[in-house]
Amino acid sequence: MSEISAGWVLPVGGAPIEGGLVRFENGRITFVGPGRATRHFDDAVILPGFVNAHSHLEYASYAGFGDGAPFAPWLKLHVERKGRLRPEDMLAVARLGVVESLRSGITTAADYSFSGAAALAAGDLGLRATVYLEVFAADARDAERQWLEKRARVTEGGLVRIGISPHAPYTCSLETYRFCLSLGVPVGTHLAESAHEDEWLLHGSGPLQGIPILVPPTGKRAVETLEPVLGPGLLCAHCVALEPRDVALIADRDVPVAHCPRSNALLGCGIAPLTLLRDAGARVGLGTDSPASTPSFDLFEELRTAIYLARAREGRADALPAAEALRLATIDSARALRLDAEVGTLAPGKRADLTVVSLAGSPYHPVEDPAAAVVFGGSPDRVLETIVDGVTRYRSEDEETWREVRNIASAARLRMLAGAP
Ligand SMILES: [Zn+2]
Repeated sequence: MSEISAGWVLPVGGAPIEGGLVRFENGRITFVGPGRATRHFDDAVILPGFVNAHSHLEYASYAGFGDGAPFAPWLKLHVERKGRLRPEDMLAVARLGVVESLRSGITTAADYSFSGAAALAAGDLGLRATVYLEVFAADARDAERQWLEKRARVTEGGLVRIGISPHAPYTCSLETYRFCLSLGVPVGTHLAESAHEDEWLLHGSGPLQGIPILVPPTGKRAVETLEPVLGPGLLCAHCVALEPRDVALIADRDVPVAHCPRSNALLGCGIAPLTLLRDAGARVGLGTDSPASTPSFDLFEELRTAIYLARAREGRADALPAAEALRLATIDSARALRLDAEVGTLAPGKRADLTVVSLAGSPYHPVEDPAAAVVFGGSPDRVLETIVDGVTRYRSEDEETWREVRNIASAARLRMLAGAP
């Protein structure tokens, strides 16, 4: 049996507890309520670990590549640089991605993985993850070949589940999506990330033109193209370029959505209609995407960006309250991944996945509203400890432990930068 306590406990599924304690045993929570443990964190909040609804752990060292460039040259640079990595480099970078996730209070990730390295890294360093192995194929037989080859490299079990990711409607055919959905494993894709997708699929023109992995135009917009396969079993990242009827379709079909506001803003894709999706009853979670398109796995910054953009887009301050944003990154993301019976709130019976955030010296301390304090005052530098399945996987005071991980990942980045651009 283990227990920790803090100035506040934010269970998310219930009211905040001042002077709260969380007890857990064999990886599951057994008690959440008032109390004080020997291990007590003053001026801090214990909350459920964040559930990151969209990431690419193996792009942890890709920060800044092609920033500001149009899509096609941006993608070309990434593919070129990725080609300079050896398999062991990909694993090193994925390990850095896991450390950075834990350091940001993330305990579960939905990770789309090109090489499969993310599965090894997450299993090894103790991040709960569904790893969706990426396929890019017009022909379902190609998708099957890529799947079998990548699947053979990774193992499932413990904290790691394996799924498949047909990359996007402009790189995979409907036949490929049907193959993926027939496997009985979690399936995730990218959908309507930008208007460029529609331009290619409708007219065979626009900035995507010339990318070698494109499927032929379908004569339909991205959401319409995938309409026959949209359902609760297909996690869709982004969903920015939506028309009102798309929002209704996504909600009616119970399609899980991963909202990635920083990535969408930085790549100039736009602002996803988060409020419309939520008001329609869609199952939306929050994702950081990866440093290939955002500066970091900093989920606190993602929370704040979600709030800034939702309030700016809707033109009202109550468009996304802090407590709702916190739900988005915990229980709502867990619902999107269909893991809400196991994670996403602090409650007896759930997995002991939690994080401790210090608010000492922040403008939100002394605390008036603990949810607002964590969302607006939190940062990875304030994460004191992250626990996954009852095991401490990250402590801020043990930063030295990660020196080797960081050094090896830096060397991999240097390899990518060599021969730049
Ligand atoms: Zn992505």
